[in-house]
Amino acid sequence: MSEVPVPVLQVDGLVKHFPVSRGIILRRQVGLVRAVEDVSFEIARGETLALVGESGCGKSTTGRLVLRLMDPTAGSVRFKGEEIATLDKGALRRLRRHMQIIFQDPYASLNPRMTVGEILAEPLQVHARRYPHQFSGGQRQRIGIARALAVNPDLIVCDEPVSALDVSIQAQIVNLLQNLQQCFGLSYLFIAHDLAVVKHISDRVAVMYLGKLVEIADKKTIYARPLHPYTQALLSAIPKPDPSLRTRRVMLQGELPSPFNPPTGCRFHTRCPHAEARCATEEPKLREAAPGHRVACHFFETLPAPIIVARAGAAKGKFAERLAAFEAAKQTRTSAGQ
Ligand code: SF4
Repeated sequence: MSEVPVPVLQVDGLVKHFPVSRGIILRRQVGLVRAVEDVSFEIARGETLALVGESGCGKSTTGRLVLRLMDPTAGSVRFKGEEIATLDKGALRRLRRHMQIIFQDPYASLNPRMTVGEILAEPLQVHARRYPHQFSGGQRQRIGIARALAVNPDLIVCDEPVSALDVSIQAQIVNLLQNLQQCFGLSYLFIAHDLAVVKHISDRVAVMYLGKLVEIADKKTIYARPLHPYTQALLSAIPKPDPSLRTRRVMLQGELPSPFNPPTGCRFHTRCPHAEARCATEEPKLREAAPGHRVACHFFETLPAPIIVARAGAAKGKFAERLAAFEAAKQTRTSAGQ
């Protein structure tokens, strides 16, 4: 019997609380910001898992916890089977070269006082005499990718890597990331709020709301049959000029609550169009709806049929244009490879 390969990344019950203190002379802790709460997922070799949700939902914090750029409050992060949540500094440094990050803002993440040669030369000792400000946004992001790749990693956390770039450049960078994944068998944790980019690049999608995972499934299932009301709302918000589709948009009430004082029970109950009394008191667990498809909602089996959005041939407007740009980049890549 063949052995099941160990996932590149296994995250189990990850928690991050930030203490909140008040007072000038006598500072005292008055509470906790519950940024990440009991998050679990895994990523296989060569796989892209997209982590999506509104800003402030904890997805970037999760990315930094995975790389141990900050210490978790609780939970386990295993990289190729090795626990990293408790590694000492020396062992962590040795492991870090296998786990890299690409940041959202390629300008802010490159040291403006170092030449690009110096940035890349940290691991490679290459020569290049220009500074980051002498490059365009797309070029700077390519430098960020080169820096991440320079140490031959297995896992790259891509934290909104294209959201600061022009649409045309976004397609090129996404195309480059996919090319590199094929060449080197890279695994990506792709943090994004842009569902067009996610639809193009991901294999599976995990949806976060206020620090918790609410749904996880393969990309096709999430886009065709979202079961959690929050996922349905996110997908229904993709711009569609077709009036019959627009009337079916799920409108969320109010703002994202503060993770300092999250709602009891289901964290989504203050905005959920299907909330019932039980939702305010009892927290739903992630339950399996189908193999590989897990949902944290008490009532997902009995909710109204989900809105089908962005299915093949149905996407219109800017979303469709974006998808077309990504497809064109993919075609170029395929032709170049022939
Ligand atoms: Fe909505 Fe209740 Fe399901 Fe939460 S558990 S998503 S509030 S129906």
